[in-house]
Amino acid sequence: MAHIPDSLLAGYRNFMNGRYASESGRYRALAREGQTPETMVIACCDSRAAPEAIFDAGPGELFVVRNVANLVPPYEPDGEFHSTSAALEFAVQSLKVKNIVVMGHGRCGGIGAALNVNAAPLSPGDFIGKWMSLIAPAAETVSGSTLMTQSERQTALERISIRYSIANLRTFPCVSILEGKGRLTLSGAWFDISSGELWVMNRATGDFERPEEKA
Ligand SMILES: [Zn+2]
Repeated sequence: MAHIPDSLLAGYRNFMNGRYASESGRYRALAREGQTPETMVIACCDSRAAPEAIFDAGPGELFVVRNVANLVPPYEPDGEFHSTSAALEFAVQSLKVKNIVVMGHGRCGGIGAALNVNAAPLSPGDFIGKWMSLIAPAAETVSGSTLMTQSERQTALERISIRYSIANLRTFPCVSILEGKGRLTLSGAWFDISSGELWVMNRATGDFERPEEKA
């Protein structure tokens, strides 16, 4: 028997009667002509920080890759399995996106795990531990800072990891070349789940600021 959770089926019916009904022309055109999103978003798997919801994006507008703690690994052409790098390669080389946004968020469980250096792995594979070791040097520095509160350390590492991911994006030759030519912009953002505030990284300083309201 075909099975899917009832809540998803109910949501799907709402989608068909609502969004799909009102945007069916757009879906059909996207099916016919293919996707041409201008922006790639690299976001966390967290169920509370969905880029399409936060940016009010319609079908075909955002090319999204989500992983634990929205990390970009460095460029490593070693023949291993690199899912985020594969999505990045496709977005940049095939879709020719104009923008890449790395979006982190508050209360990130992955970042919390990285700060909790003495925690036991969740399973023998310790996939999260291996993945979060990408930011181990920063995590060790921040977790050792006794002047900061736990929540300050958490927010600091969430934002540091966004800057780290943007630096790693530039280790990919295709990204750095296109950025140098002015055909690709890299941005950072941090979403506060509780208040809904979006903080945007200042490219010059690396600080996170509230965007100016446009009338
Ligand atoms: Zn997260």
